Amino acid sequence: MASNEFKVGKATVRLVMGDITEAETDAIVNAANSSLMGGGGVDGAIHRKGGPQILEECKRIRATEWPDGLLTGKAVITTGGNLKAKYVIHTVGPVWRGGNRGEPELLAQAYQKSLRLAVSKGLKTVAFPSISTGAYGYPVEEASLVALKAVKEFLEKEDNLDEVVFVLFSEHALEVYMGKAKDVLACHE
Ligand code: ADP
Repeated sequence: MASNEFKVGKATVRLVMGDITEAETDAIVNAANSSLMGGGGVDGAIHRKGGPQILEECKRIRATEWPDGLLTGKAVITTGGNLKAKYVIHTVGPVWRGGNRGEPELLAQAYQKSLRLAVSKGLKTVAFPSISTGAYGYPVEEASLVALKAVKEFLEKEDNLDEVVFVLFSEHALEVYMGKAKDVLACHE
């Protein structure tokens, strides 16, 4: 097993540096905002590369299920449009407000609700960006710990997924996630 891979339950967790819009997993996760109307960062990149069909489906979801916007910690799914991934799972991470306003719980929920949705659609492989650590200001050191623990907890209970990939956008983010993964995900037998 490569040094950037960890076995959790029946699944593999892999950490790579790259652009998530290039991922070939069944679904990629979008760090969206509650409007679901696109935005900056990874959200903008996904809509640009995935094309207008994603926004069309987001608008339909807003009109039917989430008229006031998608709540933080929840997740919805659309087509992947022109992306290699067949689906995009849109979730809203918390805005960092110092760490005592429920941010860790909400961030963990964003990961777990996304995985739950993937499983409910029969998907096997999912790629995540580092949710909340861009415009939303969550420190990467803390977000990575929450993210890895949330994914681990999910995969330990759920054996329907084959692979979860963290696609980190910088060398620094990859290093921080790798450091935490060695503590959180590695077997210590
Ligand atoms: P948030 O609002 O949840 O903070 P951002 O999109 O601003 O979302 O940032 C989340 C993370 O996604 C940041 O670490 C940012 O560097 C990263 N990111 C931005 N573009 C991409 C991309 N194309 N692929 C993967 N990660 C990306």
